[in-house]
Amino acid sequence: MQKKTIFVFIFVLLLTACGQDASLSHEDVPNNDTNAAAETHPPSTESGNANAATADDGNAENGTPDNEPEGKNDFSNDTSVPDKETTESLSDLKVHYIDVDQADATLFQFDGKTILYDAGDWKRNDVIQYLDSMGVIDIDLVVISHPHADHIGQLTEIMHTYNVGEVWFNGVEASSQTFQNALKAVLESDADFEEPSSGDEMQVGALDIEVLHPDVLSGDSDLNRDSLSLRLTYGDISFIFTGDAYKEDERAMISHAESVQADILQLGHHGSKTSSDASFIKKVNPEVAIYSAGADNSYGHPSPETVSLIQDAGITLYGTDVHGTIIVTTDGQTYDIQTKEDGTVTPSSTGAASGNEGKNTSGKDGATSNGSPSSNHCISINDASAEELEAIIHIGPVRAQDVIDRRPFDSLSDLTKVKGIGPSRIADIEEQGLACTGG
Ligand SMILES: [Zn+2]
Repeated sequence: MQKKTIFVFIFVLLLTACGQDASLSHEDVPNNDTNAAAETHPPSTESGNANAATADDGNAENGTPDNEPEGKNDFSNDTSVPDKETTESLSDLKVHYIDVDQADATLFQFDGKTILYDAGDWKRNDVIQYLDSMGVIDIDLVVISHPHADHIGQLTEIMHTYNVGEVWFNGVEASSQTFQNALKAVLESDADFEEPSSGDEMQVGALDIEVLHPDVLSGDSDLNRDSLSLRLTYGDISFIFTGDAYKEDERAMISHAESVQADILQLGHHGSKTSSDASFIKKVNPEVAIYSAGADNSYGHPSPETVSLIQDAGITLYGTDVHGTIIVTTDGQTYDIQTKEDGTVTPSSTGAASGNEGKNTSGKDGATSNGSPSSNHCISINDASAEELEAIIHIGPVRAQDVIDRRPFDSLSDLTKVKGIGPSRIADIEEQGLACTGG
């Protein structure tokens, strides 16, 4: 963890001193610190989707745009942001919200630069496949929001496969093998390694990156809390990413950051109701919100409440569970959105039915829960109390304590760290369907 000023200073120093090797460079950047595109101009969504799901339970009205991207692979939802006396012309920035199932990974490509925010799920290789399909060889910057296995998942492989210039972590360490392997791969590579905090800024080509969170690490055992959150600005267009940060963290961002305005917001924690605080959404004032979640995921992400909140505010909503990979292309003045699949997000199209939503109960202050887990919630092995854990098959008082001592777990499979739990018991636990890792 280093001091912000030092971080920025050292970075500049490195770049100037070492001449260039660093793939990041401080080039002339258009002067864009006006938070220009604050006006909300919801995309003109002409519809016409043959296969758009139209389950309308009444929440998608109020003048809410249809949330219907158009035909596959063409640029629909052409959104024009009113002109500013702009800037020199920028080459296109493409922001790929990659469909990586119940995980996160977003790729930025512009002007020969490549940035990756989060690295997908550890059990898959879809991030690598996607990067390869986009012709990626060098990655200027990899940012990992937090150490959970659905965010840091494929980092080890990424470090071994690509020429990575710099890696950012949030400064929280995890005991899981996934994290330990990834950290080792980063440290053994030639990449610079940084742990920035709120207020730190960096420019990669014409892209301005500002760290919104964390300010200081919370010390909370819940790894989502300190998710490294960014506001990225390209010309007049801004994007925000908050990993799995919670509502209280979003409120902290409002108080720390100069501005949290963004045209396009990635909804925190896969659209869970643990994130997207109403005051935060209001401040960000996005035209478009995008979440990453797996179709029919067991967490019930995104939450129907969050979907309603966003749509009732007139914000166009996309989700990777419905739309597949979503690509935003911007020249710094306007943007287009292209989706792999057609579809419409509605509160009832979400995982609502399964109801396994969210950060499960019991903070460390022991709030909540009467010991018998409701069928509406999964029991997070990273968050639940000992009493709650005992509802999981094969977990009694002793193992419950062992689970607590060995947190965090990247996945249910990591329960093998617990004495007496092996693959077949994990299979039972999975079959029982109560336990989860908190997403
Ligand atoms: Zn997550």
